[in-house]
Amino acid sequence: MRIFDPHIHMTSRTTDDYARMAAAGVAAVVEPSFWLGQPRTGPGSFTDYFDSLLGWEPYRAAQFGVVHHATIALNPKEAGDPRCRPVLDLLPRYLDKDRVVAVGEIGYDSMTPEEDDAFERQLALAVEHELPALVHTPHRDKAAGTRRTLDLVKASGIDPGRVAVDHLNEVTIELVLGSGCWMGFSIYPETKMSPPRMVELLRKYGTERVLVNSAADWGVSDPLLTLATAEAMLAAGFGEDDVDRVMWRNPVEFYAQSGRLDLTGVTGAAAPTFAGSSIKRGGE
Ligand SMILES: [Zn+2]
Repeated sequence: MRIFDPHIHMTSRTTDDYARMAAAGVAAVVEPSFWLGQPRTGPGSFTDYFDSLLGWEPYRAAQFGVVHHATIALNPKEAGDPRCRPVLDLLPRYLDKDRVVAVGEIGYDSMTPEEDDAFERQLALAVEHELPALVHTPHRDKAAGTRRTLDLVKASGIDPGRVAVDHLNEVTIELVLGSGCWMGFSIYPETKMSPPRMVELLRKYGTERVLVNSAADWGVSDPLLTLATAEAMLAAGFGEDDVDRVMWRNPVEFYAQSGRLDLTGVTGAAAPTFAGSSIKRGGE
């Protein structure tokens, strides 16, 4: 089984996690930039972090045979902080870099006017840099936040097929289903989605435009919940091809839209078979 985790914060994980993930078939990851728990006090804190996501972290991942890409943005939680907002002017130079496969995570936390502005500006950056966008939906007021997200995406003029609306659940999936956007689900040990709930959604709504991630960070989370979901799918009667679509081909298809997804480092069982034109292939 080959797994591509399309949303995982490896910065906050140990090398033990990389070893376990590689053994479980996780051959590729995308790490979205996010907040650091402790509030940042200036743009330099962002740029050091972005450099680490594009330099140190791919190097760390490669030691375990895991291919690492990143998404870059001013995250929703800090979008209203005047000390952080100047980073918006620094984003364009990062969005031109090779391993950046989307603008993200952007979106709403508390749905303030400042967040509207940062979200709007960063969707415009995605259009300008011809990148997909990874959109976080808020934990509070999720349905309202998802509706407002879709309105803003529509108004931005970005192709909805280049947008992933993430952290969805049983309530918000219905809102995103007809929008043309991709639908992301974060599987957690205690809160939000669990593997059995995810399997139910796949049964009900199918596998098209669905992305499943572990979102693992410093909180209670588990980078192997992608594997647990894949196993739950097989146990529920899904075929191996369905699992491969959700766990590998879908995220590859979504991020390949950046033209920068480089799976050259993926070999053996997880070598890419997706025939997307913009994917660099690894050796068989
Ligand atoms: Zn995240």
